[in-house]
Amino acid sequence: MEKIAFIGLGIMGRQMAANLLAAGHKLFVHARRAAAMAPLVEQGATACRSPADAARQAGVCITMVSDTPDVEEVLFGAGGVIHAAAAGSLAVDMSTISPEATRGFAARLSEKDITLLDAPVSGGEAGAVEGALSIMAGGPKAAFERALPLLRVMGKHIVHIGGSGAGQVAKACNQILVAQTILACAEALEFAAAAGVDAARVREALLGGFANSRILEVHGRRMLEDDYRPGFKAALHCKDLRNASASAAAMGVRLDGLTLAAERMRELVDAGGGDLDSAALAKVVRDNLRR
Ligand code: NAP
Repeated sequence: MEKIAFIGLGIMGRQMAANLLAAGHKLFVHARRAAAMAPLVEQGATACRSPADAARQAGVCITMVSDTPDVEEVLFGAGGVIHAAAAGSLAVDMSTISPEATRGFAARLSEKDITLLDAPVSGGEAGAVEGALSIMAGGPKAAFERALPLLRVMGKHIVHIGGSGAGQVAKACNQILVAQTILACAEALEFAAAAGVDAARVREALLGGFANSRILEVHGRRMLEDDYRPGFKAALHCKDLRNASASAAAMGVRLDGLTLAAERMRELVDAGGGDLDSAALAKVVRDNLRR
């Protein structure tokens, strides 16, 4: 059994950490708020004062925090992982962050003989609870193989995409697809309503045909029920689209659909919807269409 430092116990992290505990691993957890650690401590995890405190006691350090600057702080800030993790240890960042920054982090960690695997996930809170996440990994093959038994506890569909940052590139592709599908789903349901047709019946019909998708199924239901409890917060999706747009711009690649979806997601966040599920993009679509 592995000794694991786990940092970031939000919607996703707390469920992933709970699954690792249930599989018999020894967990050293850190979160900024003690309340976030309490349920895991009850299940047998050790609460740690800092990421370094957790990393010092473990051979593998998993991070599941919000954005690029957060991963940087957890790895390299005062009390960061790099100050305490042993040479030869493994860091697995499962947050969704910038691929370019990930490569920089990997290089900085390697100076202390710590290997970084980027392993962002898809599948939402339900996937985290069920240990059924899709995991896309980037980094050395040996590091992937070392992490695989742990990844298998948290996920079902696990693919080693390529070198450092490749997992984050795959996750950006995922977010590009998901955001545009949410937008398309919102437009289709709004179009049905504007035409005086029952949008719920339309969704029911479409679920059986070529337009079927997890987004139409899950997000479509949220839209029809006007239920935007997160799930995946719009602020986080906005962050992912911003990172994907920055990567596309850096490569000189023009992605019109991404630009539009990112703009609409930004409108949702600016209107105060950052803590809503990203399916609330439908509210922006509705407001814009009725203007
Ligand atoms: P969340 O509920 O907002 O949790 C993020 C956690 O990270 C919070 O507990 C936060 O602590 C902690 N954190 C942030 N910055 C930190 C720092 N500098 N030091 C220590 N802790 C820090 O987000 P989530 O939904 O679990 O998502 C986590 C990551 O997974 C994000 O990158 C997200 O994009 C990605 N993701 C999410 C989903 C989903 O459906 N939710 C799906 C796939 C991927 P505080 O509570 O103290 O703020």
